Amino acid sequence: MQKLLKQYFGHDEFRPMQKDVIDHFVSGRDTVVVMPTGGGKSLCFQLPALMRGGTTIVISPLISLMKDQVDALTANGVSATMLNSSIDPEELNQRMRDARDGHYKLIYIAPERLANEYVRSWLAGMDVTALAVDEAHCISQWGHDFRPDYRNLKLFREQFPQIPIIALTASATEGVRTDIVSELALTNHEVFVSGFYRENLHITVMPKAGAIEKIIYLINKHKGESVIVYCFSRRETEDLTEILKDEGISAGTYHAGLTQEKRSEVQDAFVRDDVHVVVATIAFGMGIDKPDVRLVIHKTFPKTIEGYYQEIGRAGRDGLPSDVVMLYSAGDKMKLDYFLRQMRDTVQRDKEEKKIKEVMDYAQSRICRWQWITSYFGDVGLPACGTCDVCVGNNDTEDATEIVQKILSTVVRTGNAFGRGHVVKVMRGSRDKNVLARGHEELTVWGIAKEYSTGDLMEYIAQLIALGLMERNTGEYETFRVSQRGANFLNNREKIQLPKLQKEITGSSRKSKSFANYDEEIFEALRELRKEIADERGVPAFVIFGDVSLQEMSKKLPTTKEEFTDISGVGAKKLEQYGDTFTEFISELKEEKIQKEKKRKKSNMSETKRYRLEATVEMLKAKDTLADMAQALSLSEGTITKYIEEIIEEDVNIDINYLLPSKKTQKEIEEAFKKHGTDKLKPVFEHCNGKYTYDEIRLVNCK
Ligand code: ADP
Ligand code: MG
Ligand code: ZN
Repeated sequence: MQKLLKQYFGHDEFRPMQKDVIDHFVSGRDTVVVMPTGGGKSLCFQLPALMRGGTTIVISPLISLMKDQVDALTANGVSATMLNSSIDPEELNQRMRDARDGHYKLIYIAPERLANEYVRSWLAGMDVTALAVDEAHCISQWGHDFRPDYRNLKLFREQFPQIPIIALTASATEGVRTDIVSELALTNHEVFVSGFYRENLHITVMPKAGAIEKIIYLINKHKGESVIVYCFSRRETEDLTEILKDEGISAGTYHAGLTQEKRSEVQDAFVRDDVHVVVATIAFGMGIDKPDVRLVIHKTFPKTIEGYYQEIGRAGRDGLPSDVVMLYSAGDKMKLDYFLRQMRDTVQRDKEEKKIKEVMDYAQSRICRWQWITSYFGDVGLPACGTCDVCVGNNDTEDATEIVQKILSTVVRTGNAFGRGHVVKVMRGSRDKNVLARGHEELTVWGIAKEYSTGDLMEYIAQLIALGLMERNTGEYETFRVSQRGANFLNNREKIQLPKLQKEITGSSRKSKSFANYDEEIFEALRELRKEIADERGVPAFVIFGDVSLQEMSKKLPTTKEEFTDISGVGAKKLEQYGDTFTEFISELKEEKIQKEKKRKKSNMSETKRYRLEATVEMLKAKDTLADMAQALSLSEGTITKYIEEIIEEDVNIDINYLLPSKKTQKEIEEAFKKHGTDKLKPVFEHCNGKYTYDEIRLVNCK
């Protein structure tokens, strides 16, 4: 198992519960797996398919899900295909024939096909050895996504009573579980349930004041990464998308009112990293398994905790730290209450009202977010997570009188006529050309808030706008003035309490995981390479390599095939396909980095030293002896040879042969270097029993 895991998936270890599940299922027994999103359910049937003879049939509710999984399997060298309505009939027939000949380890099938007589007789003629039912909650009316076609699965069990079934889902209510077992007529089965806690998701709930500013700030913090923003209405998604686009953010809209075509277009662009932010109603997300969504924002609070859990679950499936932020306001609750009052069905209304109250309770609660959520689902006794807003303890209010006075004064002093960015620059003492052009560095307010970060000041300003202490000027550009209320605040020397700024809105940063010191520049370069390859092959970038793999590469900088194999996510097929491209690219990046480092060192060098190095070069050209050079510069011969070493590193064409010891001595020293490596001189010195000086050894090393 371990070997196959590395060979085909490139992973070194199993995630919690995967091994137990696989052991059980491979032994031929029915299996139910309840594991949160991102837990790694796919592997629980994909690996057994490789261990067994014959073909595993996989049922999946959506074409997009099938496609991504088949792409990923193929990229890993596992033969897999899918049969659904997106394939044209001729191709479909070809695949069915190939399947009969045993070409595929896994075949993904849309559930409605199982009702088809023709498909069933085709199945009967094949060596089917297992059935996997993904997103198995679709079989239950209790689930949030009931699909009548899933009821066809009963037919499969009737037709192949002896073939083991594995059912997988992230939704775990008792009702759903019972339905799965009875609908699939599972026998002698075991249910594996893993907890609900997802430690890589850092939860924040914060006041909605200044929502747009907060959203922009958060997205910019995750620049270039995938983000989902959930909104209340279609209208809201469209408006927000426009605002984000104006900010230069690549964003798309997704809601149920759009044509199917338009929706797939946005979804595809998101999966392929062509669009980074999708602003959506809850209709978005079900059809994608994108592993590297780094931020999920709820602009409006969700209607149920179950839905909320599912939506935040779309972040960080690959296990890397990701942020989930909910903006909460009493106003939203009022909006929902209004909708509730319109409802005729009182039973349904009471039910929904109860659900909304739970969400309110969650938002206002002062206990660890993860403790709250897991205990809601029946998992009690989890220790506090240490990363959510409650644990980090940034949620109280603080006296913000002084900083608010400073902000408002700056707005007044700069003439009530500038955008937020300019105000912040002045407050932080920037010498930006726009600041200087207006002489704002002369103002008394220039540099009065140096100790605050730009992000923090923007955050305060957002709140002041929301509170009506500042307001927008009319006109083409977004500029602000102090409002009447703001003026009163200043004149009456009022005091103000504001929610304590979430200094780290996003909890701990993404660098907190295992690859703490990976090189971010190299990571970015590798991401670009990955995107290029992915576009060329017409697959999503994560099919080539996940972020986890790229981060590990950026840390370990593998330049040989052996080193590359050690990276998680690199299996046999990927080594063969991408090994050379990536290791060569990394070698180049490494070399570039070394050169840059050298340049940096050189520019940091003191004037004196630079002068001495230049003088040494001149004297080398004049073929001066070591002793002469040392005397001319009042340095020891040892220091001169070290200088020569630095000079040769920069320019190998400078001739030092005349300084070298006899050929015989050189040879002996060279032999010693071959044995001990050239990193350290001491072993060589000792190897030669002290016959030669360090200077001689160093010079031979230069050669
Ligand atoms: P689920 O279906 O439970 O939501 P997936 O099967 O889509 O989860 O897996 C989520 C992510 O976890 C994928 O990117 C996958 O490559 C990764 N993954 C799964 N198993 C492992 C493992 N043993 N080691 C490392 N990564 C894994
Ligand atoms: Mg899945
Ligand atoms: Zn917590």
